[in-house]
Amino acid sequence: MPLVIAIDGPAASGKGTLAKRLADHYRLPHLDTGLLYRAVALALIDSSLSLDDPEAASRAAHALDADRLDDPRLRARAMGEAASRISAVPEVRAALLAWQRRFAADSQGAVLDGRDIGTVVCPDASVKLYITASSEERARRRHLELAGRGEAATFEAILADIEARDARDASRAAAPLRMADDAVRLDTTALDPDAAFAEARGIVERARGDGA
Ligand code: C5P
Repeated sequence: MPLVIAIDGPAASGKGTLAKRLADHYRLPHLDTGLLYRAVALALIDSSLSLDDPEAASRAAHALDADRLDDPRLRARAMGEAASRISAVPEVRAALLAWQRRFAADSQGAVLDGRDIGTVVCPDASVKLYITASSEERARRRHLELAGRGEAATFEAILADIEARDARDASRAAAPLRMADDAVRLDTTALDPDAAFAEARGIVERARGDGA
């Protein structure tokens, strides 16, 4: 059975870093699904189209170009907010769902991280992790990360962003952010990246052992 690892959690919870490390460790392809939503938002912005136009967003999602997922502009703070706005459009989610499922069907297995991987994209994943941390700790990490990339923003502004984004992602009707019933919750507030990885690996190993 291919190993499919589904990782969900709120903004800046560290799920992307963990997903990458697990993918390296198990030699699996990794998809950061937030990038897909960010790329749809960027396509709209580049074409001077409104983020509040569901039809334009849906067209952009259908036309998504996978070669553009390494555009550094996708990582900007404003793009997370823009992605969250268009991600509430059901047609956008439907267009990206097929794309994500194809990726997850890779014969080797895969690691995907996002908001609805365990609940919608890969409900039959071999193992599901739900990564959280306090909003203050997530804002602290995001503040450091943005500062490292030369993007100045105050801690308070980042905390407000994160809380607003989580509230929107958790309250939308289409595939809201929530922990799958069969996911394992990992709170990384007090864990450094190595400790979080060790815990996550332990969860994957236990799930594989149970499934064997
Ligand atoms: O994870 P990241 O911060 O890059 O995600 C940006 C936004 O994309 C999220 O706030 C969320 O609204 C949306 N998203 C989603 N479903 C996913 C991944 C991301 O709705 N699977």
